Amino acid sequence: MNLKNIYLDYNATTPLDPAVLEAMLPWLREDFGNPSSQHSSGQRAAAAVDLARLQVARLIDANPDEIIFTGGATEANNTVIRNAGGMIVAGGTEHSSIYEPARDAGAVFLPVTAGGQLIPATLGEALRKHSPALVSLILANNETGVITNLEGVAEVVHAAGALLHLDAVQAAGKIPLSVKALKADFLSLSAHKFYGPKGVGALFVRRGIRLAPLLSGGGQEMNRRSGTHNVPAIVGMGVACRLAAARMDEDPAHALILRQRLETNILDAVPRCSVNGAGEARLPNTLNIRFAGIDAGALAARLNLEGIEVSVGSACSSGRSSGSRILEAMGLSTLDAMSAIRFSLGRGIDAAMIDHTVERLAEMVEVLRAAARTANVLDLETD
Ligand code: PMP
Repeated sequence: MNLKNIYLDYNATTPLDPAVLEAMLPWLREDFGNPSSQHSSGQRAAAAVDLARLQVARLIDANPDEIIFTGGATEANNTVIRNAGGMIVAGGTEHSSIYEPARDAGAVFLPVTAGGQLIPATLGEALRKHSPALVSLILANNETGVITNLEGVAEVVHAAGALLHLDAVQAAGKIPLSVKALKADFLSLSAHKFYGPKGVGALFVRRGIRLAPLLSGGGQEMNRRSGTHNVPAIVGMGVACRLAAARMDEDPAHALILRQRLETNILDAVPRCSVNGAGEARLPNTLNIRFAGIDAGALAARLNLEGIEVSVGSACSSGRSSGSRILEAMGLSTLDAMSAIRFSLGRGIDAAMIDHTVERLAEMVEVLRAAARTANVLDLETD
């Protein structure tokens, strides 16, 4: 066990599974063919891409011809938003790869509850008022882990004549996914969130739905995404999907036990902290917690000095001095939003790492709060 580096940021990205790497290596070494070529080198690569397409389809209960490989979920999300062809209604806690293009397209964003949950009545109202062509919702939030309650959602979206897109990037490999049960028309995935390589993703597009490509050119992916296939990455994504499906009992159970240990022990050891998204269904691996009076950036920096790697807000938006857009949408003040830390767990974490983290964290919070009190007293004295 290596207590020198405790990586608790699996929602930002995950390490490559060794079996994924092994499967990718031949396609980086000797098997370099282009799947669009008609000769044997090309057709071997085409067969490998086809197998990967089947493996991705199986993870989400889709048909292989409904899967388009992309250069990640940012591309998949942008493709759907730019394809909308009408008004867009989006969730209130979307990832920036939905939020930014949707905002630019004049989308209406739905409010969420204090727990970060969709409010069905406001969706119904938005459908009536705006007659959107597309509704886009995050299936599980990357910052809080809150799982959107989609019961009845596809039905009302379809009844209003709109299509439903789900950003399932954080859900994949953590909760079972079926596009049939979800009745989704589009669904986005990203391999690096479930032990696959970075820079490869997939977009599910239900059979019969028209999709205007974001990238046109050579006509790959049934004219829906041009560009030479990234064969090693696609092969890696396929294997990562196969492993995620095979480990659908083991991985979430392992994460949940450790997440509960982390959550319970922090709440016990550290006064004045609260869980964001408490009371909602959450991903088994994610804990977003705020520490009253603490600057999360300062706390994360101290943890990092001791080799404990966590996230403040989401990795994609870190470096900004404002609080998280997601937490503020849940009604938190900027100051409260800036006191939140996200812990996200995965396959490499064990109980000793969790216990060590809680121990160090409790001490650091106490030190930071004591320092803040001293600073306040000094401020008073100089007044
Ligand atoms: N959606 C969500 C919910 C995410 O967490 C991420 C990754 N942070 C993305 C989309 C973008 O995925 P990618 O890194 O493949 O562009």
